[in-house]
Amino acid sequence: MSVSSINPATEEVIETFDPHSQVDVDAALAKADQRYADWRLTSFDERAKLMENAAEVLESHVRDWAPAMSREMGKPLAQAEGELKKCAWVCRHYAEHTEGYLKDEKIKTNASQSFVRHLPIGPVLAVMPWNFPYWQVFRFAAPALMAGNVGLLKHASNVWRCALNIEDVFREAGFPVGCFQTLLIGSDGVENVLRDRRVRAATLTGSGPAGASVASISGDEIKPTVLELGGTDAFIVMPSADIESAVETAIDARVQNNGQSCIAAKRFFAHEDIYDEFRDRFVEGMKALKIGDPLADDTNIGPLAMKALRDDLTEQVDKSVAAGARPLLEARSSPDKGWWYGPQILEDAPDTAPAAHEEMFGPVASLWKVSSLSQAIERANDSPFGLGSSICTAAKAEIEMAIRDLDAGSTFVNSKVASDPRLPFGGVKASGYGRELAADGIKAFINRKTVSIA
Ligand code: NAP
Repeated sequence: MSVSSINPATEEVIETFDPHSQVDVDAALAKADQRYADWRLTSFDERAKLMENAAEVLESHVRDWAPAMSREMGKPLAQAEGELKKCAWVCRHYAEHTEGYLKDEKIKTNASQSFVRHLPIGPVLAVMPWNFPYWQVFRFAAPALMAGNVGLLKHASNVWRCALNIEDVFREAGFPVGCFQTLLIGSDGVENVLRDRRVRAATLTGSGPAGASVASISGDEIKPTVLELGGTDAFIVMPSADIESAVETAIDARVQNNGQSCIAAKRFFAHEDIYDEFRDRFVEGMKALKIGDPLADDTNIGPLAMKALRDDLTEQVDKSVAAGARPLLEARSSPDKGWWYGPQILEDAPDTAPAAHEEMFGPVASLWKVSSLSQAIERANDSPFGLGSSICTAAKAEIEMAIRDLDAGSTFVNSKVASDPRLPFGGVKASGYGRELAADGIKAFINRKTVSIA
């Protein structure tokens, strides 16, 4: 059955694709396997030249691919442009740093020489989501290819134009055929690929159930995985914070990517001494945001990417309000067509409300008053997830306490959580395991071979 990309702002079909057959998938796996045999022997310099080319290809396509991305999944155009440029950055980062990240680690023993050498492992499958359709893929692909592995992409079924463009980046950059291939398959086609002996490892960015499925099949096959899953990141504001800057950061952290980001701040805890000021400014700022055509220059929030996401978010908000949460913003009217959801802040949601414990994938913030940092941290940690966390404060002791006690993969102080090629990225608890980016990321799919020479 064919698969269509649908513009979430208009509900129009943009393009329709024929999925790959089992024969196509087998051919791609054979090609990956053959290519790996010689790609693994290339030098860091050869790989780095091609990765630099990939950065240039990405930059040369910003003008056509950014609007196509906005049309396919609804993110505002400036953010789509920023995403493509960030992909070029991660390509250059690994082109420059891989040799250093993967140099031998010498260890003194009784042998004349002993060390750890970092060797590639083979074809790696990446199962990726639609919300950052290029970035999620490049933060996997750049280190994987630089390490000498080859990549297979199973992208989300609503962004197959992006998926095919990504394959084109590597082709245009001059990578040998088979280094990076896009498989146009649905989630039901993942198991076969994972169980194929030629596929050596998998990474998944997406929801918990998808992660659990990929991890259990890979576990059954004894193949390593990295999982980057959901989050309900806490954002704590303390009395010593610069409130104006905290509000600006809070809004950006919540509504980036139309609120559909794993590391979007979703649960806000403000100290009672500054609570009213923070809340009132937060409300004013969210009210002022412009919702509309993602291609328009002045749009802050576009539509949600799929109808099911809009319907799920509506249900979560309705249930939270029924449970006692107070909505602080009026509902916005929206056009008949498209999957719109206006920004909202829910105050004081009780523990039973979805807003208190589920991931809300849209521009809806939950806000609570706290009387101390320990109370904020206790509430922040009372979540199945542990991806990122933020604290706004000028107090050194509070910063140290947040770093020590927030049960999350990262703590950002006086800024929103953001991924950066130079910093490891990942979560704890139901947010997944393993790290992407920086040196940790490239070592995720490596054979750390022990060498001892008598
Ligand atoms: P999703 O439904 O889990 O889909 C992600 C990918 O997994 C898609 O390619 C999807 O394919 C595939 N998939 C779904 N079910 C599967 C299964 N049972 N077996 C194998 N593959 C399966 O997630 P989403 O709704 O696209 O993305 C949103 C979620 O991703 C949120 O929870 C968000 O927080 C999380 N996320 C996490 C990070 C991070 O770095 N931690 C980054 C971005 C997003 P189909 O499209 O064909 O179903």
